[in-house]
Amino acid sequence: MDKTIRLEAKWIIPVSSPPIEDGVIIIREGRILFIGKEEDCPDVYCDEIIDCQHQIVMPGLINPHTHLSLSGLKGRIREGIGFTDWIREVVSYTREMNQEEEIFWAKMGIDELVSAGTTTIGDISRLGYSWNILKEKGLRGIVYIEVIGFNRSQREKEIRALQVSIESLSLNGKVRVGVSPHSPYTLSQALLKESYSFAVERDYPIAIHIAETLSESEFIKRGTGEIRDLMIGFGLWDEGWNPSGDSPVRYLNSLGVLKGIMGIHLNHVDDQDLDLLEENKVSVIFCPGSNQWFGREIRYPLSVFLERGINVALGTDSLASNWSLNPFLEMRRTKSLFPQLDYHHLIEMCTINGAKALNMEDQIGDLSIGKYADIVIIDLPDGMIRDPAEYVVTKINKVKGILIEGKVLMPKLK
Ligand SMILES: [Zn+2]
Repeated sequence: MDKTIRLEAKWIIPVSSPPIEDGVIIIREGRILFIGKEEDCPDVYCDEIIDCQHQIVMPGLINPHTHLSLSGLKGRIREGIGFTDWIREVVSYTREMNQEEEIFWAKMGIDELVSAGTTTIGDISRLGYSWNILKEKGLRGIVYIEVIGFNRSQREKEIRALQVSIESLSLNGKVRVGVSPHSPYTLSQALLKESYSFAVERDYPIAIHIAETLSESEFIKRGTGEIRDLMIGFGLWDEGWNPSGDSPVRYLNSLGVLKGIMGIHLNHVDDQDLDLLEENKVSVIFCPGSNQWFGREIRYPLSVFLERGINVALGTDSLASNWSLNPFLEMRRTKSLFPQLDYHHLIEMCTINGAKALNMEDQIGDLSIGKYADIVIIDLPDGMIRDPAEYVVTKINKVKGILIEGKVLMPKLK
């Protein structure tokens, strides 16, 4: 039988309610039974006490967007490179990599995320290798099987490959399967629609990269520019493919593949796009580190997303276009880009908003009664701190410990 655990902390940041000083969390069968001030805690027999009297305790961080199998590309591509040249480099490196190497690097990427307090990961993977690793490590997540195929001739083969990859993954409570039609410019219309329907029919979550660069917008609208050259260079150009005359968001909407998805990037959107994102309940993943790595000087439309009540979470993207996989650094980057955002809101973007993006908000994302006890533990400095949320966002790079469903995952705890 599962133990009952009492966790006593100097500070608790529940996210869904204000920080608690000298707080207690009671965990039973992996879920939170009580959270609050010590004096309000009911008298419950506990098998174990976890002493965090010199620590901050908060929900495990959620990184809804990465590509772990690209972790081996860390530092191998020149930062600031043009987008299509970057794609060429990624393709050439991944062609050289074998399965063992991909798994090795994915493990390294996961270790980096875990030491930075990540308990739930949304990973895009061509063949689903990260699924087993997440399962073995006891982490929570969604592995989105990637679908790519711009030329119509690739459709049947790609759908078959998607089926095969998904069938190879057995059921597991903490790690789920999703589908990621890569982007509007790397799939034919037919494959976008078919992979979307494939996921919807099976109730799998869907992630699509959208409006990452202006070259994508140009290509979808007019069929011209460096993405067309890229497709021709790869021998994938399809004479039957017609530009939509519209934005990537409106193009996806016209194909009926926007509803309920997780939209990654959305760096370039207009008012009409925003209406559609709102109507279709799209969650947006902002990747500030990746944008910075590419040297993109964009005015990210974060404030308009937030004004409209669109859910925005922070993602790291992969180590092929970021220096590290660390949600704390993404919070700091967002703070420096949007100084008006308060610390609490930044923490929400790496916890509950990430949970909403992964459709897991009924289970994780904050510390409240009934939710899973996915928790990170952060050391406090000597002396007083003014605001635990400010301390977490401005000072922290690594965590001291991690619990998932109340079980100690990271051994540094004791
Ligand atoms: Zn990505």
